[in-house]
Amino acid sequence: MNDYKDDAESTRKKVFIKTWGCQMNVYDSARMADVLAPLGYDRTDDQTLADLIILNTCHIREKASEKLFSELGRLRALQKAREVKGVKVKIGVAGCVAQAIGEEIKNRAPYVELIFGPQTYHRLPELLLRGARDVGCVLDTDFPAEPKFDFLPESQSHSQICGFLSVQEGCDRFCSYCVVPYTRGAEYSRTLTSIIAEAEVLVANGAREITLLGQNVNAYRDDSVGAGLAEIICELSEIKDLLRIRYMTSHPLDMDDALIEAHRDVPKLMPFLHLPIQSGSDMILAAMNRKHNAGQYRAVVERIRKVQPKLALSSDFIVGFPGESESDFEATMQIVRDIEYAQAFSFKYSRRPGTPASVMSEQVPEEVKEERLARLQALLRKQQTDFNKACIGETLSVLVENVSRRDGYMFGRSPYLQTMRVKGDVTMMGTEQKMRITQAYPNSLDGEWVPEP
Ligand code: SF4
Repeated sequence: MNDYKDDAESTRKKVFIKTWGCQMNVYDSARMADVLAPLGYDRTDDQTLADLIILNTCHIREKASEKLFSELGRLRALQKAREVKGVKVKIGVAGCVAQAIGEEIKNRAPYVELIFGPQTYHRLPELLLRGARDVGCVLDTDFPAEPKFDFLPESQSHSQICGFLSVQEGCDRFCSYCVVPYTRGAEYSRTLTSIIAEAEVLVANGAREITLLGQNVNAYRDDSVGAGLAEIICELSEIKDLLRIRYMTSHPLDMDDALIEAHRDVPKLMPFLHLPIQSGSDMILAAMNRKHNAGQYRAVVERIRKVQPKLALSSDFIVGFPGESESDFEATMQIVRDIEYAQAFSFKYSRRPGTPASVMSEQVPEEVKEERLARLQALLRKQQTDFNKACIGETLSVLVENVSRRDGYMFGRSPYLQTMRVKGDVTMMGTEQKMRITQAYPNSLDGEWVPEP
C-alpha cells in the first residue's frame, strides 16, 4: 500500500503559479491548478522546485509588459540552472498580457512554451500535450466558441474560508481607457445552476464567505431562467453554512432594483459595495465613455443608502485622464467630499496601448497627475480613517479567517470589509464572532471578544 502511495507521489510534478492583478486573476490561477491536478501537477509556493511555472498576468497596471519581461529574464536564469541538473522546466504566460501581446512574448522570449489568454486555460491539458509534441511555443489567445466554464473541473482542490466564485466575464462597455473588452472579450455569464453547484462545493470545502466575481459582475444574466445577480445572491443565501456574500466589480448603470433591494432583504449580503465612478466631472466621464454622469452615480448611491443606510462604499478613481482640467479634478474632490467613502483605489491615468484614450491629445503632464493624486489620496485616507474611528465602541461581527504568523493574533473581516485583529485561538477559524472595537487605524481595527449571552 505504502509503496504504491510513495511511488505515486514521487511521480507527481509541481506547478508554481505567480498571479498579478485582481481577485479575478487569483480565481483563474486556482482554477488552472484544478485543471492541472488530474495531469499530475500539485501546486507549490517554491518556484525553484517547479516543473511548470505559469505567470498569470494583468494588463490593468502600469508597465505590465515591462514587468513581465523582467520576470521572464529571471525565470530564464532559473530554467538554465535547473537544466544543468537535468530538470526541464516549462514556462507559461497566461492572462491579459498574454492575450494582448502573445506574439511579442513568443518573439522576445522563445524559451516560453505556453502562451494562453484568460479564455483558454481550460485547454491547458491540450496545450501541454501540444507543447510536448511540437517544438517551440504553443500560442492560444483565441476567444473560443465554447465557454471555458463548461470545461473546467467541477470541484476545486483549494479550501478557503473566504472563497471566490467567478459568475461573469468580459465587458461590453468599452470605457476608453480600459483593455478588458479587448483582453477578456464580450460579456459572458455562467448558468445559475453551475454557479450554485460550485458554491455548494466551496462551502462543503470550508468556505463561509463567497465573493461573486466579474469584470462587470452586476451585468450578470442567465436568460434561460430570467436570473440576474440578485437571484444568485438570494439562492446562495439558502445555503445553510454560508454566512456571508459579497460581489465585485459593479457598473453604476447595472445596479437594478432587484440588486438594490437585495441589500435590504438578504441579511447574508454584506453592507459593502465597490462601485467605481473614476471621475466626478461629466466632461471627463463622457471622454472616458463611462455612459453615466456624476448625477446618475449620486442617484444610485442615494437609492442604495436608502435601503441600506449602513452601507460602506468603495470606489476607483483615475486622476489626470486626458483633458482633465483643475476644475474637472475639483469635481472629483467634491463628489468624494459629498459621498464619503469607507475605502477606495486611486491611480494616475496611464496609457494602455490599443485603447482610444491612449491616442487622445491633451495628455496631462506627469507632475500634475502626481500632485492631484496626492491631494485625492489624502482626502480618501482621511475618510477611511474617519470611517474606521466611527466604529470604536461598536460591536461588529468578524468572520475569523486565520492566525497571523507575525504576532499570533487572529484576524478576519468586519461586514464592512475592514481587517479586524483580536487575541483568540484557531478553533475560532471559520466562525462569526462578536467583537467590540477598541482601536481604529487607517487599515484595520482592534477589539475584544464579546462573550455569547
Ligand atoms: S466597465 Fe469596467 S471592465 Fe468594462 S470597459 Fe469599463 S472599466 Fe473596463
